[in-house]
Amino acid sequence: MTVLVTGGMGYIGSHTCLELLNSGYDVVSVDNLCNSSPVSLERVQALTGKKLRSYIGDVRDEALLRRIFSENDIGCVIHFAGLKAVGESVRKPWEYYDNNLNSTLVLTKVMREVGVKRIIFSSSATVYTSDNEMPLKETSRTGGCTNPYGWTKYMTEQILSGISHADGDWSVTLLRYFNPIGAHESGQIGEDPRGIPNNLMPYITQVAVGRRDHLSVFGDDYPTPDGTCIRDYIHVVDLAKGHVAAVEYTVGHKGTEVFNLGTGKGSSVLEMVNTFMEATGVNIPYEITGRRAGDLPECYADPAKSLEILGWRAEKTLADMCRDSWNWQSKNPMGYNG
Ligand code: NAD
Ligand code: UDP
Repeated sequence: MTVLVTGGMGYIGSHTCLELLNSGYDVVSVDNLCNSSPVSLERVQALTGKKLRSYIGDVRDEALLRRIFSENDIGCVIHFAGLKAVGESVRKPWEYYDNNLNSTLVLTKVMREVGVKRIIFSSSATVYTSDNEMPLKETSRTGGCTNPYGWTKYMTEQILSGISHADGDWSVTLLRYFNPIGAHESGQIGEDPRGIPNNLMPYITQVAVGRRDHLSVFGDDYPTPDGTCIRDYIHVVDLAKGHVAAVEYTVGHKGTEVFNLGTGKGSSVLEMVNTFMEATGVNIPYEITGRRAGDLPECYADPAKSLEILGWRAEKTLADMCRDSWNWQSKNPMGYNG
């Protein structure tokens, strides 16, 4: 089967293309390069020894999408393309709503025209409300998002569920990711953020490689064992394998189904810093600073449903994630640009 991957050149998309190729799928990618490099998929092809087809362009471009569907026998779509920086979404709400919602609307419009009715969507744990008990289950409360990025994920879930509700032939799989980190074990593909990283792991690896002089730990007065926030970090290769499991699932099922993709284990910021230092032998100077606005003390998944229905579970440890993130960053200190 041929899988269309939107945003295939990005961090999670490139790892997923690799796992799809290794699992015997044909892959077509479309990416407008707004946050990625074509080098990622060149390396995926070198690593797998397999070819994929890549289109450079925007998912909101209806004519391009019609061409992609007419030139390829697509059986299923994985929709990663979108903007993903929470802080930027507060400053540029229009750009976030336009990109993230219109990409989905145009994509599903063309899918409907051509009769391709299987879609897997990159949602996020950010759709859960802040007053849920941990661990988060797929049935935990959603909504009440605190930024436009979160709302685009929430609204896209609504749009796709509505489409499958109206036409029972659709298969919609909503994957709620927790905190993807790490890189392929080769160190050839990985996360390559533009500018100053917002997320913890890329910030740590940039300190490790000497691009930043220290890490600021945002608050140590939370109600957690060491006072720093707890998140459910998941290795990107485990996450990518979750998408392969979702493709297999979506082929045999109709309707909408939601899955958490997390490990079920929470780790604090200081645990992460210490594990990174132990796993790599590289020192990470850090300073405790004030809290970052909007951070929740803890957020971690109950991944039981994914195991039960998708037959998927995360396998890799926090030390694996740290080692592989460092392997990628040390081999590519400036990301794909050098
Ligand atoms: P990424 O920025 O590395 O990948 C997104 C890719 O989509 C990029 O290659 C970008 O160039 C492309 N793109 C963006 N808008 C496009 C458009 N209109 N047309 C064509 N291509 C477009 O991000 P990622 O970390 O790989 O995330 C992939 C998806 O997973 C996103 O939807 C993101 O919101 C979601 N997600 C990510 C995380 C995370 O922590 N990384 C967590 C939860 C959900
Ligand atoms: N964090 C930090 N310093 C940084 C970046 C992040 O202390 O430079 C903390 C942040 O406050 C949060 C955790 O690390 O508690 C994970 O942050 P990230 O942005 O990676 O994920 P999110 O909070 O969006 O789940």
